[in-house]
Amino acid sequence: MSIETSIGLETGQPYPYQRTELVEPDWTRFPGWKDVTTAEWESVQWQRAHCVKNVKQLRELMGDLLDERFYADLERDQAERATMSMLVPPQMMNTMVPQFVPGGPGSMTEQFYADPIRHYMIPVLSDRRTDWSSHPHATRDSLHEHDMWVAEGLTHRYPTKVLAELLPTCPQYCGHCTRMDLVGNSTPTIDKLKFVGKPNDRLGNMLDYLRRTPSVRDVVVSGGDVANMPWPRLEAFLTDLLEIENIRDIRLATKALIGLPQHWLQDDVVRGMERVASVARARGVSVAIHTHTNHANSVTPLVARATRAMLDTGIRDVRNQGVLLNGVNADPHALLDLCFRLLDGAQIMPYYFYMCDMIPFSEHWRVSVADAQRLQHHIMGYLPGFATPRIVCDVPFVGKRWVHQLADYDTERGISYWTKNYRTSIEATDPEALTRTFEYYDPIHTLPEAGQQWWATHADLPTSDLRAAEVAEASRRTAALQAW
Ligand code: SF4
Repeated sequence: MSIETSIGLETGQPYPYQRTELVEPDWTRFPGWKDVTTAEWESVQWQRAHCVKNVKQLRELMGDLLDERFYADLERDQAERATMSMLVPPQMMNTMVPQFVPGGPGSMTEQFYADPIRHYMIPVLSDRRTDWSSHPHATRDSLHEHDMWVAEGLTHRYPTKVLAELLPTCPQYCGHCTRMDLVGNSTPTIDKLKFVGKPNDRLGNMLDYLRRTPSVRDVVVSGGDVANMPWPRLEAFLTDLLEIENIRDIRLATKALIGLPQHWLQDDVVRGMERVASVARARGVSVAIHTHTNHANSVTPLVARATRAMLDTGIRDVRNQGVLLNGVNADPHALLDLCFRLLDGAQIMPYYFYMCDMIPFSEHWRVSVADAQRLQHHIMGYLPGFATPRIVCDVPFVGKRWVHQLADYDTERGISYWTKNYRTSIEATDPEALTRTFEYYDPIHTLPEAGQQWWATHADLPTSDLRAAEVAEASRRTAALQAW
């Protein structure tokens, strides 16, 4: 019996679980890679050297499979909207339109437009909203991570954990990147922030802060993507971190496990990770990899092989933090397909789906809190409890909240109100930090007519006046409810 034999298809469940075998799509379907060998494909050097970084390189790869309309659409997006420059490793490129057969039925252009991974890795202008392309409250650093830097690149937002941004680059650039303010090359619309300190000084300052702050026990070692840091430097940083008595959890953030698994299969990286895992085990510290994939098509045999290699080094776990994105995965079947593919095929633990943050030009990707709540409801009960991902809203100045945790919700204007139970590093003396509410905003195009009208008349106000109008409207609404 084939592994693809349906299991439970006849049971009438809303989601028919079906185990599927992982497949590496055939890269020779792309004219530019028709002669690429398996040895080349599995070489990280070949992968890095053949990333698609611009329209010209996409043309060279695709030949005449794509028509001019797509290239023009992409060029306009890069000139007018893109917050991230283009950088797609062959491994990721190969997971787009995986079933396409040159000369077969259907147009590549139409399939490429519809492809979920293309949708977030190679965004085009026609993907974006023309009514509300950005929310009036969208900001470059929407989570205010820089405001909470305690050393350059070290964000202390939660009581016991920090985020260490070691470097500002990745092997791949995602169109929706929440750190678009800092990560990657500048684009015509976004001039990126640059680290000022020398890399060694910055890392040293981070370690100094952690040594003198015993309340911190958990470090997310991130960027960017740690796969872009030369291994000896990353290992040296991790070794220093492991010597700090208060650090009990270390999580390495790398989308490259999905986008460039060849990196994590290199001998020196595997041997190095074995050394790190061995020291961590001896000291009772948990080291895990946190990766980022948003669609089942990204999970291929090479991803599974790289994950196996990492788990075999003795690290505690490999977990996935995806982003909930319209056009990619904002559908219960797509989310469950991804989670089962991760779990069954690659032994990667589904962990979180973040709602897409309020960065500029992201409205076509974002979903409302109400939709996120519905999605969370629809995915419950299929996966083991320990592998059922939480859908979370990263509320500015608060942090991650499960989507059902909101304190109040004005569904007409799409404003949800959230509370918190700890102070961030910038609120040590704020008497209202634990009693006030914090706002998150739904995409305006998802609101009822009255809500869209309200925003149409208020969106151009300066931010402080806009906030004042929102507060006045909230008070009016509360008074009307009390009178009723
Ligand atoms: S891998 Fe992460 S940090 Fe890098 S571009 Fe993608 S979302 Fe941003």
